[in-house]
Amino acid sequence: MPLTPVLSRYWDDPQSWTLDTYHRHDGYEALRKALKMQPDEVIDTIKDSGLRGRGGAGFPTGVKWGFIPQDDAKPHYLVVNADESEPGTCKDIPLMLATPHALVEGVIIAAYAIRSSHAFIYLRGEVVPVLRRLQAAVSEAHAAGYLGRNILGSGYDLDLVVHAGAGAYICGEETAQLDSLEGRRGQPRLRPPFPAVAGLYACPTVVNNVESIASVPPILRNGIEWFRSMGTEKSPGFTLYSLSGHVTRPGQYEAPLGITLRELLEYAGGMRAGHQLKFWTPGGSSTPMFTDEHLDVPLDYEGVGAAGSMLGTKALQLFDETTCVVRAVLRWTEFYAHESCGKCTPCREGTYWLVQILQRLESGGGSESDLEKLLDISDSILGKSFCALGDGAASPIMSSLKYFRDEYVAHFEQGGCPFDPHQSTLMA
Ligand code: NAD
Ligand code: SF4
Repeated sequence: MPLTPVLSRYWDDPQSWTLDTYHRHDGYEALRKALKMQPDEVIDTIKDSGLRGRGGAGFPTGVKWGFIPQDDAKPHYLVVNADESEPGTCKDIPLMLATPHALVEGVIIAAYAIRSSHAFIYLRGEVVPVLRRLQAAVSEAHAAGYLGRNILGSGYDLDLVVHAGAGAYICGEETAQLDSLEGRRGQPRLRPPFPAVAGLYACPTVVNNVESIASVPPILRNGIEWFRSMGTEKSPGFTLYSLSGHVTRPGQYEAPLGITLRELLEYAGGMRAGHQLKFWTPGGSSTPMFTDEHLDVPLDYEGVGAAGSMLGTKALQLFDETTCVVRAVLRWTEFYAHESCGKCTPCREGTYWLVQILQRLESGGGSESDLEKLLDISDSILGKSFCALGDGAASPIMSSLKYFRDEYVAHFEQGGCPFDPHQSTLMA
């Protein structure tokens, strides 16, 4: 399957982030087209394209836009979730850094479609260069008449605010993000009601991922058939896969949904010289891990789902035979325990105890009964916590015990890690 650079096609241009460069690549042509359409026509186009949310869950974007009630007097809001922080996930930040106008144009089209005149980009505060670049792009767009009052003489008004969050992983969960935007401590809200019905300030709100919104202008420019000519019937289009870890050429690879890791590895030069793939994540550490048995699984929502994991954020983290799986899982679990917001008991208490047991095992202590405890606690978290963070914490533990139970056993039987930590470059 060939690579299909659409979003990433001019990331290497000098000054790729300026309005001039964006104009040279048909920038804001899709907006001109959209403003001549009725908002519902724009929604129907995105629905018919089959674009699915690129933040992880794969919910159909146009369907989400269509949930916004049109017969109420409340304002509608668009919030772009740019709080990318799933371990291994690194696609939205390069996209915003290289081509911020692709996101800004998508925001204006999406906000027009859902009849919103206030939009927000909620960005991780730590990524200051991205914040500056987005703010500069918003200013350029204002000066060019793409934002503000009476956009391009259409009568449509839109204000776009770039908001810098304070760096909590939970603020990437859409309802926690809305609480944070409202000035409160970010903790997930009960759903339903979904944000489309009661979101920001209890008003109808669409929350979309950066890559989803940036995919909207190319779809409007090139049409539904063009988009559907890539990918699979149920998961159409192109997307950004982020390859990291023990791979020869890590980075972003833009390809149709349904490509396999075996094919992507050919583009990325394979595993680092002299080493073999041991395990990998299809969509960040929250998705159950795969092994070399899964190299030919189609990387779309259906293929990965049928093979027992989730496509998630398409963050493919690759680990070779020098990596201790227990140590990798401990690192991830420490992350989830640290980022747990504390609202619900299974996740707050469970992640703490998972870390205690994993630390014991990793340092060569523990026994067989610890493995049962890990599974028991993970089972009490999975599907029983308030938000997806809990599920994400349980997933790597359960899948690593499914594929690498012997390696856990080797730790307590040998009284230490069977791997030389100096060889384990990723985990050192
Ligand atoms: P979800 O499936 O519950 O919801 C997905 C989206 O669809 C949400 O916007 C939700 O509001 C909407 N939705 C679902 N059902 C709806 C309905 N009946 N009516 C109206 N709207 C509806 O998933 P989620 O909990 O929002 O997100 C979980 C995903 O987040 C995971 O798949 C994970 O991969 C991903 N994730 C991403 C990152 C990152 O850094 N990008 C970090 C952590 C997790
Ligand atoms: Fe908070 Fe974890 Fe419960 Fe989510 S699952 S609400 S992060 S404690």
